[in-house]
Amino acid sequence: MAAKQTRAAEGRGKAPLSALRPLVPFAARYRGRILAAFLSLLAASGATLVVPVAMRRVIDHGFSPEGAAVIDAYFLALLGVVSVLALSSAARAYTVSTLGERVVADLRAAVFRRLTILDPAFFDRSQSGEIVSRLTADATQVKAVFGVSISILLRNLFLFVGAVTMMVITSPKLSILVLAAIPLIVFPLIVSGRGVRRRSRAAQDRLADASAYAAEAVGAIRTMQAFGRGAATGDRFAAASEEAYRAARESIRARALLTGVAIFLISASVVGVMWYGAQGVLAQTMSAGLLSQFVLYAVFGAGALGQLSEVYGELAQSAGAAERLAEILATEPVIRAPVPALPLPEPSRGAVAFEAVRFSYPTRESYAALDGLSFSAAPGERIALVGPSGAGKTTVLQLLLRFYDPQGGRVLVDGVDAARVDPEALRARMALVPQDPTVFSGSVLENIRYGRPKATEEEARRAAELANADAFIRALPQGYGTPVGERGVTLSGGQRQRIAIARAILKDAPILLLDEATSALDAESERAVQAALDTLMRGRTTLVIAHRLATIRAADRILVLDEGRIVEQGTHESLLAQGALYAQLASLQFTDALDETARGKGPRARPAAMPVAE
Ligand code: ADP
Repeated sequence: MAAKQTRAAEGRGKAPLSALRPLVPFAARYRGRILAAFLSLLAASGATLVVPVAMRRVIDHGFSPEGAAVIDAYFLALLGVVSVLALSSAARAYTVSTLGERVVADLRAAVFRRLTILDPAFFDRSQSGEIVSRLTADATQVKAVFGVSISILLRNLFLFVGAVTMMVITSPKLSILVLAAIPLIVFPLIVSGRGVRRRSRAAQDRLADASAYAAEAVGAIRTMQAFGRGAATGDRFAAASEEAYRAARESIRARALLTGVAIFLISASVVGVMWYGAQGVLAQTMSAGLLSQFVLYAVFGAGALGQLSEVYGELAQSAGAAERLAEILATEPVIRAPVPALPLPEPSRGAVAFEAVRFSYPTRESYAALDGLSFSAAPGERIALVGPSGAGKTTVLQLLLRFYDPQGGRVLVDGVDAARVDPEALRARMALVPQDPTVFSGSVLENIRYGRPKATEEEARRAAELANADAFIRALPQGYGTPVGERGVTLSGGQRQRIAIARAILKDAPILLLDEATSALDAESERAVQAALDTLMRGRTTLVIAHRLATIRAADRILVLDEGRIVEQGTHESLLAQGALYAQLASLQFTDALDETARGKGPRARPAAMPVAE
């Protein structure tokens, strides 16, 4: 992580312009627009370059007594040139900026699409804040290149070349003088420009620090206020913001100095040329109009050069951003369909087996989350996974969904090695009800149809009924159309679970993966959720991470996991009789065990003989 960040930070300032290359295919799709932008740039620069010639004619011929007749024509022509300049500049602004927006919109979409197919291991390694900043901040930087910098670059390149050519044509002698001065101007600018870039990178990094801190604080606003840390957090952000300001001030000071030096050097050389030229006009070896024309070209050329040096810094900065985006685009998911992918047998039976599965998470390779785990579930069987926290229960479900591949052994679904199947086909056979189900922004109906968007409204309602959710959904302000999730109506824990169950019922997959909620629901929600789960589990192979005695008792078999291994298995009664780990867990962990005990049906609560890591 640290290494990656350093690389990204370096990239932000120093990336060679070749880092912009991955963007070329994105721009290449829009050849027509590029041509239009190029032509309008050419027209605008051309019109600019004609102005000094017109000026010279006005000065040399317009102010003589006989010139009164031609002066109108010259000014009219000048007006024409100015109109072309205005039109082509507007066209340039439009074509270039829309091209930038177009390319960045495509790029952003491509990066996000790539994110959606990357495997969970990638997200284990990255911070979500950093990824979002790539999508927003970096994409905006890249837009600056396409929308503005390239346009400025090309315009000034045209202008510079054009102005220098015209200078040579206008007065070869004066040109030699000016061209000799250029290295004297450019060299100090390049040297001090580097310092500016280094400082502006520092400013950007400080700003990123402040933003990251703010994002974290806003995400945990309740915890922050509950612990009375509001003022302290405010102070810390203010300090980070102050740091960013100081770094920015440094950068601006360096840039201001650079601007001053540049203006002085450029203007002084123009003044020098003017002085030299004035001698020529006095000696009548040069007309006043010619000198004006030359000086204007020199000013254009010098201005273009100044802008080119500025735009170079921006391009280098955007190259860093482009590099970071290209990194995501170039990341290949580890979990993908092998070629050729093995087909799963049709119709699905819903058989699941683990054969001596060994697995460590990529971020923690030395620790075996699953350590030679074997079991099999027959079609339709209900298996409860029980064990202390960290035993590997969630990992079993993650491997079944093929979020990761095991390092040893095999995970079999309907007799086929999951690693040799297209993950999409595999996941189509499973429905997941997570512990804390996500309700996405959108309507209740959209949320239920999440796993089968083509299901009819009638089917969705039917699923909701089976999930015991229909009644409360109807009572919502807009029934099934009520917006929920982010910024929508907030649902209770039990309601969200029933929506997730309805979602799973509608998906109608033969294998059901259930991570039971640990938090206790109120008695009524509890009953509603339990009934919904019973409906859901009927006829499906179910693997449930169980926290409640009711669920465990309904299971055909209980697997007790500890440190990535199955240490006991059997039914509730047989395991209790063994008086080992399960018996200890039963007395401590099952959220409804106390009720059951109170009613005289459940196990006697035992004192904890073994600490349960929770
Ligand atoms: P359980 O669900 O039984 O509480 P898990 O399957 O979540 O346990 O975790 C098993 C072990 O793997 C634990 O030691 C846990 O810290 C570790 N672990 C879980 N998820 C990750 C992850 N994404 N990266 C690294 N280690 C993980």
